[in-house]
Amino acid sequence: LALVYPFGRASSDVMVYQDPEAPIEDRVEDLLSRMTLEEKIGQMTQINISEINTDREHEVELDPERARNVAATYQIGSFLNGFADTPQRWYDFTRELQEIVIEESRLDIPMIYGIDHMHGASYLLESTIFPHNINLANSFNTEMSRQMGKITVLESAHLGHHWNFAPVLDIGRDPRWARFYETYGEDPHLASVLGAAYTEGLEGEDRVAPHRMAATAKHFIAYSTPLSGHDRSPVDLSWQNLQEVHRPPFQAVVDAGIKTVMVNSGEVNGVPVHASKPLLTDLLRDEMGFEGVILTDWADIIKLTQLDEVGFQQEHYHHIAVDEKEATYLAIKAGIDVSMTPQSFDFVYHMKELVEEGKLTEERIDESVRRVLRLKFKLGLFENPFPTTDFFDLVGAEEHKEKALQSARESLVLLENNDGLLPLDIDQTQKILVVGPRADSKRDLSGGWTLEWQGGPEEMYPDDIHTIYTGISSTFSDSEVILMESIGEEGDSERQRFEDAAAGADVIIMALGEEPYTEFIGDINDLTLYEEQLELADVVLETGTPAVLVYVGGRPRVLSESARNSDAILFAGLPGFKGGEAVADIISGKFNPSGKLSFTYPAEPSHFTTYDHKHTDRVTAAWEFGHGLSYSEFEISDLQINSEEIGPDDYLTAEAIVTNHGPMAGQKNVLWFLRNEVSIITRPVRQLKHFEKIELEPGESQTVSFRITPEDHLYYPDKMGDDVIESGYYTLMIGDESTRFYLDVPEDRASAPAH
Ligand code: BGC
Repeated sequence: LALVYPFGRASSDVMVYQDPEAPIEDRVEDLLSRMTLEEKIGQMTQINISEINTDREHEVELDPERARNVAATYQIGSFLNGFADTPQRWYDFTRELQEIVIEESRLDIPMIYGIDHMHGASYLLESTIFPHNINLANSFNTEMSRQMGKITVLESAHLGHHWNFAPVLDIGRDPRWARFYETYGEDPHLASVLGAAYTEGLEGEDRVAPHRMAATAKHFIAYSTPLSGHDRSPVDLSWQNLQEVHRPPFQAVVDAGIKTVMVNSGEVNGVPVHASKPLLTDLLRDEMGFEGVILTDWADIIKLTQLDEVGFQQEHYHHIAVDEKEATYLAIKAGIDVSMTPQSFDFVYHMKELVEEGKLTEERIDESVRRVLRLKFKLGLFENPFPTTDFFDLVGAEEHKEKALQSARESLVLLENNDGLLPLDIDQTQKILVVGPRADSKRDLSGGWTLEWQGGPEEMYPDDIHTIYTGISSTFSDSEVILMESIGEEGDSERQRFEDAAAGADVIIMALGEEPYTEFIGDINDLTLYEEQLELADVVLETGTPAVLVYVGGRPRVLSESARNSDAILFAGLPGFKGGEAVADIISGKFNPSGKLSFTYPAEPSHFTTYDHKHTDRVTAAWEFGHGLSYSEFEISDLQINSEEIGPDDYLTAEAIVTNHGPMAGQKNVLWFLRNEVSIITRPVRQLKHFEKIELEPGESQTVSFRITPEDHLYYPDKMGDDVIESGYYTLMIGDESTRFYLDVPEDRASAPAH
């Protein structure tokens, strides 16, 4: 064997686990058999950067002495978090850390570094920052989701980032919840398709660098619908709902081979998920078939207790374990493999004691360690443990930024466009007034999880990216573009300036919405948009000058009726570093809007029923799921199905024709819905089952199709969570067209009585 291992050991010393040609399972078993209990427990521990950095800041700067001490004492297998402005700084940090970890490891086991690169390599200033998931979902562009995953790897895996804590697969059904923008919206099918594409993009092996990355499906399961709307607070929901709404995206990525899963920090039906064997082992592993690593979320083992690490009572902890040791026992029993940020190294001691006392078997420890080692072997970490300087050029590469721009454009949703105000004619528009608190900010367009946890401060963002105001100014370079972030109070000089400017303007663009937030920091109890902003909108609308409302922020905030009557409304969401440019491209007509809402935009602050509500629910929405205007007029016609009756082993092909009757070329998102007409449990009025994005020139038509298989589209869980397929009528819907067909399931195959 001509092998040179990192520290140049002679090839005769090479052990099976060091042999890249040996099957991974043999390598895992060989390595495991040589490890002490302490070394094994180290592999189950993931430590925050604050333990190895020079100070407690987020910016990476290794303290080699602290790092060596941590590595030597605890044999830690994984670290996480941090920010750097340049690739060089990330490289220096992960390289030195990896050297230390390997040197201090008797068996040269490399560490794996974890990070929240949520929308591009978002903890690296020079990288390409994409829109957040809620925008990705509005674009209904599966390929773009794959590209975001792939570009994230290309820009950061070579810097030593091998474990990315994305995609978020929680279903966004309650916009009060601060993490709504991290989701792919309210629909399980859309989240499944986009999440799987992202995972394939991120974990795919067709990379230029030998460096690979593991994705993380999070936060398993049913994290997104806390009763109070508050992050990490109790969720109570039926097993049927859990199976039908929350499971599909996780199942989709498990089927796509995702390598890791992160657990929901909250409780579901009275049991904290971190201590739930029924959810983590029986459901995720045994039923869904997940074989990878299960990771806790932040310090969530200790949160099973009532005391924090310094011994203070914590009301918001779960109180199901008397102390951290019992909590550790419960979590490991439930199925946890790796503890993220145990906050103290006590986890290591507890684990050891639990094994010594015979409460946990070493076999149980081995199961988890096997999964961690398998992950490291699969990622090639034993062969390529170190980052490289060879691919710095990929960070923020022009072609990546082009993709981010296209993604941002496609993610914007034109909600209203009365009298065809938009697009504005670049040659005819002489004066534009841009107002509102979100008008001149880069951080507002990027949202949380950008550079810093809560989004970096404004001055941190690159010089060469646009705000809405600068985007408009540079696109309408021959027009006078005036910025007024606030418009003063009635009677003051600022208000006077505003009124003068408004009177002479062709159009007023008002940028309203939210500032960035991340996790519980952004929970709200009332969805209504801030009063000051609604007043600003009223003042703008009273001028009589045509007005465009651009909404910035990752969830729908309820607008007043008058604001909803703005001449045009654009939902910009959180479009990322290319957002300012993308907004200008839509307003100027350089890009024909194609985004559609991936959520129901509520009309009332406490009524947020989703599009797949039940017949008996009376729903009001400001704009429905799937709504989004274009500068073209698309018609969907000639819906046909090749048979009005199918059996359970058949499939049915549906076709329709889409025509662009408008003056501009444009993209059309085609959404297909199904409804089960009569069934044993109440069914949604419609469910998205298939979507497709097409591009049509003016006057062009195209046939779109959908292949309906009973197994893929007509099964559903009954209230016990068991699969059901029923004979009966189903309705298929696309655009304004609909048709019915009959599914005929023989008595012995049907899991429900015929209707
Ligand atoms: C979040 C996770 C994130 C982790 C690591 C937690 O607070 O819930 O989504 O991956 O922190 O930063």
